[in-house]
Amino acid sequence: MNNRLLSSAPESLEAMRKFSEIYAQKTGTFFCSDITVTAIVIEGLAKHKDQYGAPLCPCRHYEDKAKEITSAYWNCPCVPMRERKECHCMLFLTPDNEFASTSQSIDSNVILQSIQ
Ligand code: SF4
Repeated sequence: MNNRLLSSAPESLEAMRKFSEIYAQKTGTFFCSDITVTAIVIEGLAKHKDQYGAPLCPCRHYEDKAKEITSAYWNCPCVPMRERKECHCMLFLTPDNEFASTSQSIDSNVILQSIQ
C-alpha cells in the first residue's frame, strides 16, 4: 500500500471504509455510481477523525471544527442522515436517488486509486 499520498492514517481510512459499508447495509442505502465520490468522502471522514478525534462531515465549511465536533450534529452519521436518510455528501444514497449504484461495498485499493 502506498501511503505517501494519503492525508489520513491508513487505520483511520480502513475504519471509515468499514463503517461506511456497514452503515449503508444497515440503512438500506447505496454508494454513488461515481465511486470517486465515495472514496473522497471516506478519506475526508478519516482525515477529520485523525485531526479532531471524530469523523466530522467533510462536505461542509466550519468556523470552528473542534466546536462542531462537540455539538455532534455533523459527526458522521449526521443528524439529517440518522433522522431522514439525507446525506448531502452523497456517501449514502437511497435507492431512488438517480446517482445511487447497487453497491454497498468499496475496496480499499479503489479508495487509494481514487484519491491520488
Ligand atoms: Fe456523513 Fe452526514 Fe456527511 Fe453524509 S452528510 S457523509 S451522513 S456526516
